[in-house]
Amino acid sequence: MVVDNVHLTSRSFFINMIIQKFGGTSVGSAERIKAVANLIADDTRKIVVLSAVSGTTNQLVQINKALYKQDKVAVEGLLTSFESAYNQLIQDLFISEESRLKAKSHLSGHINHIRSFTLDMFTPFEERTVLAQGELLSSSLLQLHLSEKGVKSVLIPALDFMRIDQNNEPDEWYVKSNLNRLLDAQQETKLFVTQGYICRNHFGEVDNLKRGGSDYTASIIGAAIGASEVQIWTDIDGMHNNDPRIVEKTRPIDRLTFDEAAELAYFGAKILHPSSILPARKSNIPVILKNTMHPEKPGTVISNVSSGNFIKAVAAKDGITAIKIKSDRMFLAYGFLRKVFEVFERHRISIDMITTSEVAVSLTVDSEEDLEPLLEELRLYGMVEKEVDQCIVCIVGHMIQEEPGPAARIFESLRNVPLRMISYGGSKNNVSLLIDKQYKVEALKALNQGLFQLN
Ligand code: ASP
Ligand code: MG
Repeated sequence: MVVDNVHLTSRSFFINMIIQKFGGTSVGSAERIKAVANLIADDTRKIVVLSAVSGTTNQLVQINKALYKQDKVAVEGLLTSFESAYNQLIQDLFISEESRLKAKSHLSGHINHIRSFTLDMFTPFEERTVLAQGELLSSSLLQLHLSEKGVKSVLIPALDFMRIDQNNEPDEWYVKSNLNRLLDAQQETKLFVTQGYICRNHFGEVDNLKRGGSDYTASIIGAAIGASEVQIWTDIDGMHNNDPRIVEKTRPIDRLTFDEAAELAYFGAKILHPSSILPARKSNIPVILKNTMHPEKPGTVISNVSSGNFIKAVAAKDGITAIKIKSDRMFLAYGFLRKVFEVFERHRISIDMITTSEVAVSLTVDSEEDLEPLLEELRLYGMVEKEVDQCIVCIVGHMIQEEPGPAARIFESLRNVPLRMISYGGSKNNVSLLIDKQYKVEALKALNQGLFQLN
């Protein structure tokens, strides 16, 4: 047996490291930041990944809009309220005047950087730089707070190791080698802090992993160092069986497989960024969803261990457009679907659901943007109909199709809801239904009652 010593040594050095990611609401106020500082200051060796303070990224988006318009008055107005909210946070977070002054000087640095973009034409590169300020700020505030508390931590800047390639996919090799280099240089350190969401692109410019991308950062890091687990801390105790914003009673799910969690995250459970499942699944690192308000609660464990053959949750995703292509040429022909799929590929639009009959194919896409160029090309192959404002309801569990009862329970629960498309059997974990958005609330309520006996 060949044993790779170098590999083993560096692996065992990180082997028990965990990743803890805290979302915007978990760092949303001085009080929350203090709670995070208490949570992370134990003896486990870890990397803490932070989002921006909740609301910040949205404010930066507004500032960017004003910057594009070169509307200096609007930019100044937005920066003033941005600054005063952070000044209040700083006031409440720190004990000593010295720390407050340090924090304020960080804040002014970020604000002046944004302000400097009012001087000439605003570019997409600058736009992404502005968006990065939220995570840069939250991480430096947490670090200052930790140092005021006497907790030793080291900031490892995401812009020094997180990179995406020309396809906007994480550059695994780059992340792994740079992260390991940074950690190797700090063998005594237990607590590392870094920024979620932000990264560099293949030009080396500041970029990001798209909105909600801090979860993705956490699992990319987890995979890169072979962490023992990735914890995602939010303000709810794990994934729930249904959308708590819509139905009154929901309950947290103890365990999900990576596949089940991926379906739920993609189809509407806002708690986890869908891409973040991939790196964790690939490296088989459990992802645990925890609640900062109730750290004692078990949360949801996402791993390759299944907890049984039953329906675990339902979720719904709005903003779906249904497209139907009807063609006599499809009848008894082969290659028709390939041609249709190629059109979607050329337009880089991904398909969520698909059902076919002998003369028609119905598809859904997760977009309400201008689909006209796509539809124009599809018309070469048949009659095309488009319907907006649709909603996919997704029912997730394990081996749904191999159990006798679930399908009957699903359809029985939804007897009053017109079903536009049904996708069953695509995976063992999912049944998807397309309905008009107006029935979304009714459908989720009916399923809550019919599948989970909750109302
Ligand atoms: N701050 C970013 C956002 O609001 C990233 C994140 O929070 O995950 O989208
Ligand atoms: Mg999030």
